[in-house]
Amino acid sequence: MLSVSRRVQSLKPSVTIAFMNRAKAMQRAGKDVLSFAAGEPDFDTPQTIKDAAIKALLAGQTKYMPTFGDPDTRAVLAKKLTDENGIPNCTADHISISAGGKHSLFVACHVLLDDSNSGGPGYVQPEVLIPVPAWVSYVPIAQLAGGKVIEIPTTVDTGFKASAEQIRKAITPRTRLLILNSPSNPCGTMYTPEELKAIGRVVAEAAATIAPDITVLSDELYEKIIYGGIPHFSIGSMPEIAERTITLNGLSKAYGMTGWRIGYTGSSGAFGKKFTEAMATYQGQMSTNITSFTYPAIRAAITQCASEVETMRQAFAARAEVINARLAKLPGIKNAKATGAFYAFPDVSAHFGKTSKGGRKIDSAMSMCEALLEENLVAFVPGEDFGGCGKNHVRISFACSEQQIHKGMDRFGEFLAGLT
Ligand code: PLP
Repeated sequence: MLSVSRRVQSLKPSVTIAFMNRAKAMQRAGKDVLSFAAGEPDFDTPQTIKDAAIKALLAGQTKYMPTFGDPDTRAVLAKKLTDENGIPNCTADHISISAGGKHSLFVACHVLLDDSNSGGPGYVQPEVLIPVPAWVSYVPIAQLAGGKVIEIPTTVDTGFKASAEQIRKAITPRTRLLILNSPSNPCGTMYTPEELKAIGRVVAEAAATIAPDITVLSDELYEKIIYGGIPHFSIGSMPEIAERTITLNGLSKAYGMTGWRIGYTGSSGAFGKKFTEAMATYQGQMSTNITSFTYPAIRAAITQCASEVETMRQAFAARAEVINARLAKLPGIKNAKATGAFYAFPDVSAHFGKTSKGGRKIDSAMSMCEALLEENLVAFVPGEDFGGCGKNHVRISFACSEQQIHKGMDRFGEFLAGLT
């Protein structure tokens, strides 16, 4: 019997995309579905960015380019990481550019982790520490690259943040990678600079003792969408771990550019350069450069669009206030206030064991989301796939108007009131 690889057979399709598609199909069928499923800003790409790409396209920048694009674009990103994020010893040679943050993550994991084929004699499976709940792609991508995922559980009570002590306990001589994400998808919460510094010190200490190969991948895709008073901090700015830290970012979320597919990594020092060269080797056999005429658009976004980014940030801040306030009033809903990104991730498990108005048994986040969508026409994403306590939570993406948030919360409230 012909078959596809076991590698792909073990991959689960994304629940987020499944719910998004279901909501869209119902909308197409004429139903008034309010969708809070998609993880993308509802803002269009700023005109300055579009113009830069159009100009390059019309000028004929349509051919192959070096794997990570032109040196000017890499230099702009290196300067951004140096000036805004405080990453030391970060030059154009420390920048990789890929087709989205997800692609950057995919290549980075394959560059850092050995599987049993590439590991050679005496192979020991590298361990990847991931605080959970976490973005749905970390676990499958780390596993595809050969990593053994060690989940670090967090809870709503601590804002879904792993403590330095938890991370210290999870590190072993086999630890190769720690993935951090602040602001967080799906949790909408952020680590404080102090919390990240404590984690950085633990990593530095482990690197000097039991885990010499440990690296950190800091996913900062949502760094511009913050509003809770916590400043964004890049752990890669800590001199003691800078060289072993990869900062992952991209243009999707901050600039309304999810469809453009632009992500990048920045690193530091001698290992950072070696890492970036390895990224180029790997990506050179995978996809080579991203679309040629988008490089000027990257430069335009980074250097000319601060005011557009600020306008979007303010809109997200206002929406977060609405959703934080509305969720706080709903019975049996425990929510950690959103302070970054555009997600709320409330614990809804107090309602498990009940039955919906339409007669559906609610015994999980999945069954709640299904009933809510079918009966009250609201699409949330069930938290099961985000790992850990996610099974008790639903993810609500508030990348939509305040009016829609109010309407959605009204319907969610009616749904909860109808449970018996
Ligand atoms: N990191 C996080 C935490 C995300 O939520 C996403 C997208 O949802 C990404 C990375 C990747 O984004 P993209 O591939 O669109 O750049």
